[in-house]
Amino acid sequence: MKPNVAAAKEALSHLDIETSDRAIRAKSRDFFWYSPVLKTRLDHVEADFVVSPRSEAEVIEILRTCYAHDVPVTTRGAGTGNYGQAMPLAGGCVMHMRHMAAVKEIHPGRVIVEPGCLLKDLDAACQEHSGQELRMFSSTWATATIGGFVAGGSGGIGSITWGALRDLGNIIRLRVVTMEEEPRVLEFRGEELHRVSHAYGTNGIITELEMPLAPAYDWTDIFVAFDDFDAALEFANGLGNQDGILKKLCSVYEAPIAHSYFQRVQPHVAEDTTLVGLMIAPHSMEGFLTFLGRHPAGQLIYRSDDNDWDRTPGPVFEYGWNHTTLRALRVDPSITYLQVRYAYPDHIALVQKMRADFSPEVMQHLEVMRESGRTIFAGLSMVRFTTEERLDEIVRLHEEAGAIIFNPHRYTLEEGGRQSADQRQLDFKREADPKGLLNPGKMITWDNPDHDYSSMYAYPGLQAAE
Ligand code: FAD
Repeated sequence: MKPNVAAAKEALSHLDIETSDRAIRAKSRDFFWYSPVLKTRLDHVEADFVVSPRSEAEVIEILRTCYAHDVPVTTRGAGTGNYGQAMPLAGGCVMHMRHMAAVKEIHPGRVIVEPGCLLKDLDAACQEHSGQELRMFSSTWATATIGGFVAGGSGGIGSITWGALRDLGNIIRLRVVTMEEEPRVLEFRGEELHRVSHAYGTNGIITELEMPLAPAYDWTDIFVAFDDFDAALEFANGLGNQDGILKKLCSVYEAPIAHSYFQRVQPHVAEDTTLVGLMIAPHSMEGFLTFLGRHPAGQLIYRSDDNDWDRTPGPVFEYGWNHTTLRALRVDPSITYLQVRYAYPDHIALVQKMRADFSPEVMQHLEVMRESGRTIFAGLSMVRFTTEERLDEIVRLHEEAGAIIFNPHRYTLEEGGRQSADQRQLDFKREADPKGLLNPGKMITWDNPDHDYSSMYAYPGLQAAE
């Protein structure tokens, strides 16, 4: 089945279609270049056309038309994903969700919204309506969409209290359109949510989401400085365990991250400072300060509600999660990163071992998370990149030590996850995308169930570089 791009484009020409080469190239890219491995492999990838639906009916029309003409469809929220998630590896159509951004209903504890709504706009609407906000958001809050967060993200600011996006209760309902001769509209709740959440749009297009909300607060941003990494680690873990202190963020940055890469923080820290970034609810500040008093090694150097810095650092969450890597990359383009999960109960010992084994080649950047009632660390370790072989070796040594790696230097769901098929996602793809046209090349088990993960998967349909 050879795609008939011209016929699909012609049939959709009455919709909002981008025609300029520049716009098509820009909308074919995401933040894949964070990875030196993906940068060399995906830089040339480009769609044939970009179309932006205004309604679910237009989504259905686009999918029906592209199905009829065998044209691949890769959905784009805002394109802030890191692994080429929103990049059209086989060309074809990029469906950009920017016009479908309506906040439809807000109720106590939940919101119903279209996928293209920016996280910041959604928070603003919920706050204005009834003093509520999203339980969690990616650090790309200002630019990313709620649909892209659910289809491509994993968690973020808020996960210290609420856990990961995939945890039960963190998504209430998704409305999904299939890629068939006659697309169907399905509603998923409960177990069914796992078919399409974090599936990179490979098996259905989300056209509406129902998400849980929490009370909104004017969070206090805080930096606490430590001379000693282990003291900072113990502090962060202990704070994660303080159930009575309401917090939205606790990030740990091993020295010299803060001094080398956080320009506005640099005058306030030393090269050997390990920094902890925090968001604490205002009514929890007394509890927090009492907790801090029990950790004399920690020195409070910044609080947004009582600031004495000449230049404010801006939102502390924009130093955390993958913004840490972004800040480092701006200063030193040779920096890259890993995504690590340090599970309870060995999380502290494992971080200490990885630090002992890899410092200073790998710098520890940790995010405190909740998982099944326990405190764990998500590591977004920063790596001084030398070669792909060495990067693979660092990954292997982490895995051998018992750390779980979600490899950000791969573009497939499986390699960015647990290196195995997600049967629910695969089964639903068989049903909802029988021609395999949705975001091709991202689900290995669809293309090649025998892939053994001993080497990087190379999607055979990947556009050839010119
Ligand atoms: P896109 O990148 O456009 O899309 C992501 C994936 O979802 C793609 O596979 C796309 O095809 C699919 N998709 C988009 N919309 C739909 C839809 N309607 N239906 C079906 N599939 C769809 N991620 C986190 O989880 N937590 C973080 O804290 C975080 N921090 C980041 C910091 C930086 C600096 C950067 C560059 C990235 C970060 N990310 C993080 C990754 C990314 O920003 C988030 O996951 C973000 O929420 C993705 O939203 P988006 O609108 O940009 O999605």
